[in-house]
Amino acid sequence: MTHKNFETEAIRTQIERSQFLEHSSPMYLTSSFVFEDAEDMRASFAEEKERNIYSRYSNPNCLELVEKVCRMEGAADGFAFASGMSAVFSTFAALLNSGDHIISARSIFGSTHTLFKQFFPKWEITSSFFDIHNLDSIDAMVTPQTKMIYAESPTNPGVDILDLEALGAIAKKHGLLLVIDNCFATPYLQQPIKFGADLVIHSGTKLMDGQGRVLAGITVGTKELIDKIYRFSRITGPALSPFNAWVLSKSLETLGVRVDRHCGNALVLANYLESHPKVNWVKYPFLKSHPQHILAQRQMKAGGCVVAFEVKGGLAAGQDFFNGIKLLSLSANLGDSRSIVTHPASTTHSKLSEEERASVGITDGMVRISVGLEHIDDITADIAQAFG
Ligand SMILES: *Cc1c(COP(=O)(O)O)cnc(C)c1O
Repeated sequence: MTHKNFETEAIRTQIERSQFLEHSSPMYLTSSFVFEDAEDMRASFAEEKERNIYSRYSNPNCLELVEKVCRMEGAADGFAFASGMSAVFSTFAALLNSGDHIISARSIFGSTHTLFKQFFPKWEITSSFFDIHNLDSIDAMVTPQTKMIYAESPTNPGVDILDLEALGAIAKKHGLLLVIDNCFATPYLQQPIKFGADLVIHSGTKLMDGQGRVLAGITVGTKELIDKIYRFSRITGPALSPFNAWVLSKSLETLGVRVDRHCGNALVLANYLESHPKVNWVKYPFLKSHPQHILAQRQMKAGGCVVAFEVKGGLAAGQDFFNGIKLLSLSANLGDSRSIVTHPASTTHSKLSEEERASVGITDGMVRISVGLEHIDDITADIAQAFG
């Protein structure tokens, strides 16, 4: 089949119909699959044929999801995981050996940062962290043990943009793998493989499901790399459940329209906040005031769902603002149909030291809003009254 437009792939990528000719894909809640005869069993285990054997290895619903995300990201193959973090962990654990070195952006998801700093050293896998505003500093961090460059764009919670094309060129120059966590942008807004990424990781829990129902993760990339990740994962068991795969595959049918509305609402809110007298600064990739808005427009279709801003008056004013919120949710999640207000310094990034927080732009008065799909007038009204 020739490649169709994004929205069409998101809806029409589907496993084969069963004898019942169902219109939408059924759910295959089965742990294992049966064989026709002894020869079928032998050939299946010898991997002479592609077929499902056991749902820790593969399952029709997981395969549908993987095929869909591959088409959306322009990837050859992928594997679906039980959570975004199991995708992150399994991807690294499958590809790295003891003694290897990772060069990572400093502004990354909190748990990924903890994985690099606290747990990988157990297996002598070390990391160096670069400032996202200084990609030139990467060259000096490369050692003979370096295997990968890792980054996210836009970053969380600072909504800074990394130049993916420049990162791709740096990785290529040094013969390193480039791994991008594309969770904040989704493949609808940005496709890192086009800019030179070898692997793209997602937490499906965020915008991909977008309705707060399931945890999921997925890694897509080249056949060769995914094969290594698959061989590691089918043994270690981080597989996504078929139920969650079915939910997520359905969610992706509406990804484009949902993300369009998230981004539209976020831009209106960012403009409103920018004109508010009680706000010090606002950061949103598609605001003209964003230092990298030209880069953002070059590599993204729209600015995403996350807006960051600082309330005037530091911690106390920030807490008053939080306590004043009535409609929006106070939560640490993002990418949901419900708008969510978060205080990164005391929640998602509390494990970082104060200096580490400062170095990635997290201040005490900083607020992160994941703008949802409620009517924009109601979102803005709640925020307006919370300022008091
Ligand atoms: C949430 C998130 C993850 C982890 O995903 P889970 O599904 O919660 O395990 C990884 N990366 C980013 C950027 C995230 O926002």
